[in-house]
Amino acid sequence: MKTELFNLSGKVAIVTGGNGGIGLGMARGMAEAGAAVAIVGRNEQKSAAAVAELERAGARAIAVAADVTDKAAVAAMAERVARDLGRIDILVNNAGISIRKPPHVLDIAEWNSVIATNLTSAFVCSQAVYPAMKAAGGGKVINIGSMMSIFGASFASAYAASKGGIVQFTRACAVAWAPDNIQVNSVLPGWIDTDLTKNARKEVEGLHDRVLGRTPAARWGAIDDFAGIAVFLASPASDFVTGTAIPVDGGYSVMA
Ligand code: NDP
Repeated sequence: MKTELFNLSGKVAIVTGGNGGIGLGMARGMAEAGAAVAIVGRNEQKSAAAVAELERAGARAIAVAADVTDKAAVAAMAERVARDLGRIDILVNNAGISIRKPPHVLDIAEWNSVIATNLTSAFVCSQAVYPAMKAAGGGKVINIGSMMSIFGASFASAYAASKGGIVQFTRACAVAWAPDNIQVNSVLPGWIDTDLTKNARKEVEGLHDRVLGRTPAARWGAIDDFAGIAVFLASPASDFVTGTAIPVDGGYSVMA
């Protein structure tokens, strides 16, 4: 059956930052396609709520409390997932933060924090799951970039550096791990209605309407817009797709 291409039954997915926003949208999609999902985040209450929601929908899910900037915590997280869910097939590096300041006033601690959360974490988490994926004969890594992987913004120097880095890190891993049958791709969200952008809309005057005017689809994205791309990039449907950066942006990145 053709839909077998998108079947994730028997697969185990880790979603960092899966307790809300885009990560939760991706977790919902993969769970619906049959995957067991490990929700990784710092806020245990939010993670428990996400797990309860996935379980209500019939999926197997666990919450793992971990700060993705802490290498030891990430190693413990990967061990726990392999132990409790039996294997690791899919990793979504989604956890991210933004500190909106122009580069001349951004503190180095703020720079380091954004790079550690958005970029170094993808390296640390990918490295932590690589042995399990290699041993299983393959895997899928999905890294979350941004429109700031492509464009610049005055308030996003560290953020844009981290998200540009995600695209290049993705390409390097795709090449390195192709012999292990591990596909590595990035997804570049447009402007999506989440906690992250609720704050941006408060802080950056006129942002809401500027995004609407600049997005051909004429709406902000919703977290469930990420279910389909997650299932595609996590499933056999994408077995010959690697190293790409796929915008999910309602056309934002192609409008002149
Ligand atoms: P949210 O703020 O809703 O979600 C961010 C998630 O990251 C939270 O679940 C949070 O969980 C987790 N997180 C943050 N820091 C850490 C950490 N140190 N360790 C573990 N988990 C962490 O934001 P979005 O859903 O909007 O963002 C998700 C991703 O999408 C980010 O990488 C973001 O940059 C990217 N993106 C978002 C866009 C948008 O328009 N919303 C546009 C382009 C990209 P907890 O607090 O529990 O740790």
